[in-house]
Amino acid sequence: MISAVKDLPKTQSNSSVAKHQVLTILGSTGSIGTSTLDVVARHPDLFTVFALTGARRVDLMFEQCVRFKPTYALMVEEGAAKRLAELVNTTDLKTLVIGGSKALDELASHPSVDTVMAAIVGAAGLSSCLAAARAGKRLLLANKEALVVGGDLFLSQVQSGGAKLLPIDSEHSAIFQSLPQDASTWSECVEKIILTASGGPFRNRAPDTLHLVTPGEACRHPNWVMGQKISVDSATMMNKCLEVIEAHYLFGLPPSKIEVVIHPQSIVHSMVEYKDTSVVAQLGTPDMRVPIAYGLGWPNRIESGAQTLRFESTPPMTFEDFDSNEHRLRFPGLLLAWQVLKARPGTPGVLNAANEVAVASFLAGKIGFTQIHEVNLRTLDLYEPQAPHTLDDLLELDSCARSAAEQVIGSLS
Ligand code: NDP
Ligand code: MG
Repeated sequence: MISAVKDLPKTQSNSSVAKHQVLTILGSTGSIGTSTLDVVARHPDLFTVFALTGARRVDLMFEQCVRFKPTYALMVEEGAAKRLAELVNTTDLKTLVIGGSKALDELASHPSVDTVMAAIVGAAGLSSCLAAARAGKRLLLANKEALVVGGDLFLSQVQSGGAKLLPIDSEHSAIFQSLPQDASTWSECVEKIILTASGGPFRNRAPDTLHLVTPGEACRHPNWVMGQKISVDSATMMNKCLEVIEAHYLFGLPPSKIEVVIHPQSIVHSMVEYKDTSVVAQLGTPDMRVPIAYGLGWPNRIESGAQTLRFESTPPMTFEDFDSNEHRLRFPGLLLAWQVLKARPGTPGVLNAANEVAVASFLAGKIGFTQIHEVNLRTLDLYEPQAPHTLDDLLELDSCARSAAEQVIGSLS
């Protein structure tokens, strides 16, 4: 197993002086994208924005262009790109507007760029992540689905391209911060990693009422404001399922050394337990600007804009076993993580595709909340992938799994 995060030197010469970085922010109009720009705006001396990309949110992208003056702004939807170009033309901005998704790879791998924030949602971000990896960029990975689908191929491209892969997901950033500097000691000294999970909006909801959940309820997370897809994933705990797979690839640990504990307050962002039973954790207020600032500033620490954690006014921190009977009924999807990691290569990508299709169908009112898991299970049964070796194989796998999931949805009454 190659572990890209393992390959990072934790200390660099001259590390007290942060180097100026030129950025491409993929998915700048989303929740992670806007938080990234919030941190970037606090450090004009450290960052220049080369490219911003979005899909549909034109007005927000225009505001970002006015503020950050990127060389390029891309909108995946052609109509949105056209409207953005019209808006840009009313100003003296030099930003070049691009429509469609074809140029995402180029913007992620452009020679002018040092650092790429990968914050597109879903497997739609896979190709641009791989392009940044091959081009040897510093790759800040929020887009967990890309790693779940890309798996070993993603890691091998990071390694062969000489890229630096830094986790942005708060749990994985916490683990990275809690691991020892010398990655060669990890397999010897780490007993396990423990991912915390808030349990989302339905942690206490009676399992037999979950079929009544509406998209509005599912998207109302108690601790985090996030995009719709990850909000639904948090409500089903499929987000934690994807994060277990993400942790396996990022830290090169076997699935048996990855555990999940429910921690409703989202203050402890994850932990590492060592052979001597010591546990090292990273704590902070639930604000994605903290892991984003860590990734942007690494190996230094830069200001994030987040509130300081005040222990005297923090609610009592509690922890629950996710593996109780009740939680197994509420969150059946989480256990799929360990199953797909044991199954044939490519299976995590099938699960991811099924889940993306199921969540979109749920949000569109076509299927019920508990049917998301049913679609995921039945798609895994219906479609057995061939081991993927290239990006084309991965895209083919993703597309076949999506068709299988659509077929399953069509067969639901
Ligand atoms: P959002 O839905 O808020 O944003 C997604 C971004 O991707 C937007 O810029 C959107 O454009 C763009 N986009 C949507 N579809 C496409 C497409 N087909 N091709 C290219 N770009 C597209 O998501 P989040 O910011 O919440 O999440 C982004 C990623 O980060 C996800 O993988 C998520 O799991 C991960 N993550 C998010 C966290 C959070 O707190 N939000 C925490 C940890 C990880 P537009 O808005 O213009 O339509
Ligand atoms: Mg997370």
